[in-house]
Amino acid sequence: MSAAQVLARRLSEAQEAGLARRLVEVGPGGGPRQGVNGRDCLLMASNDYLGLSQHPRLIAAARAAAEAEGTGSGASRLVTGSRASHRALEAQIAAFKQSQAALFFCTGYMANLGLLSSLAGLGDLIVSDRLNHASLIDGCRLSRAAVAVYPHGEAKEAERLLAAPCPGLKLLVTDGVFSMDGDLAPLPELLAAARRQGALLVVDDAHATGVWGQGGRGSLEHWGIEPGREVVMMGTFSKALGGLGGYVAASRLVIECLLNRARSFIYTTAPPPAQVAAASAALALLVEEPWRCQELRRKCDLLRRLLARRGLSVLSSAGPILPLLVGGAQKALDLAQALWRQGVYAPAMRPPTVPRGQSRLRLTVTAAHSQADLEFAANALGKAAKEVGL
Ligand SMILES: *Cc1c(COP(=O)(O)O)cnc(C)c1O
Repeated sequence: MSAAQVLARRLSEAQEAGLARRLVEVGPGGGPRQGVNGRDCLLMASNDYLGLSQHPRLIAAARAAAEAEGTGSGASRLVTGSRASHRALEAQIAAFKQSQAALFFCTGYMANLGLLSSLAGLGDLIVSDRLNHASLIDGCRLSRAAVAVYPHGEAKEAERLLAAPCPGLKLLVTDGVFSMDGDLAPLPELLAAARRQGALLVVDDAHATGVWGQGGRGSLEHWGIEPGREVVMMGTFSKALGGLGGYVAASRLVIECLLNRARSFIYTTAPPPAQVAAASAALALLVEEPWRCQELRRKCDLLRRLLARRGLSVLSSAGPILPLLVGGAQKALDLAQALWRQGVYAPAMRPPTVPRGQSRLRLTVTAAHSQADLEFAANALGKAAKEVGL
């Protein structure tokens, strides 16, 4: 078979299994009401949880930074790409996360690759939740450390695996909030296990920063945990913070290791001024106006009630990620399609993003949705679910 035939066969197999992926075109404009493949829709799928990507203060900050410093940073942070604004943002992140230090990456994905592959290596042990995000899984693989996977959320099993003899470093790695299930990791138990076993606890707060905790500081704030030196926090500006860019907040020692060893930090161009300025403005806004987090919480509760009233139960009991379990990949696609015809867009999540047989519709709520929006979404979903016989 020729190379082209091999590739074509792989694609057609994915197609037949209902697993082929296609780009949907969203826009023009921003916010929860947009065109999706040419039909006006209510978006129930964005991770822009606080609606900050449309906030005038972020837009003005990005514009001013581009005008003052240009659109590109020209080199790696370690060559000539590092500016005062990068350092200032990192100080702001450390203060927000109550850590000694922080490092900013171009994306959260790159932060996770750099974090895991520079802290762990051959001879080390990483213990990882089965439902951890793909970027953590890829970071584990890249590290070449021994990787042991524990059943989702089971701290006892995590500790058993951590207790294995290991001459080097031990890392316990988890999402703070799981991206496809919307539930929280049992951080108090995981932290206790990590402490007893002399491991560092790595928490990916991509979906918790700006959302969980009274001040939106993330899952540690939610659980009332003081981030000691054995916790390494990771997060992103691409979700509730309305922009782009990953970060690691940790002890000075850990941050110094990343700066020296994280290849996704060293061998890439520094984030450009507009990205850094928008990130900084978002963090400032979150500190000054934490009411958006309460607003988001009210709306999450409202959508849950509206769905329950229609007999639709979701996997999570709180927070802006509301997964509606469907099962088969094709049926999840049919439901998403029926919903789109009703003027609401939420994508079907299928393997390998979720385990086989657990395809689902992943609905998200943002602070930018109105009560009328949520009622419209719940009605549309009720109709779409009947249409496909769910
Ligand atoms: C989105 C996400 C990331 C990656 O963040 P980006 O900034 O979008 O690259 C990492 N971890 C989790 C859990 C995520 O949901």
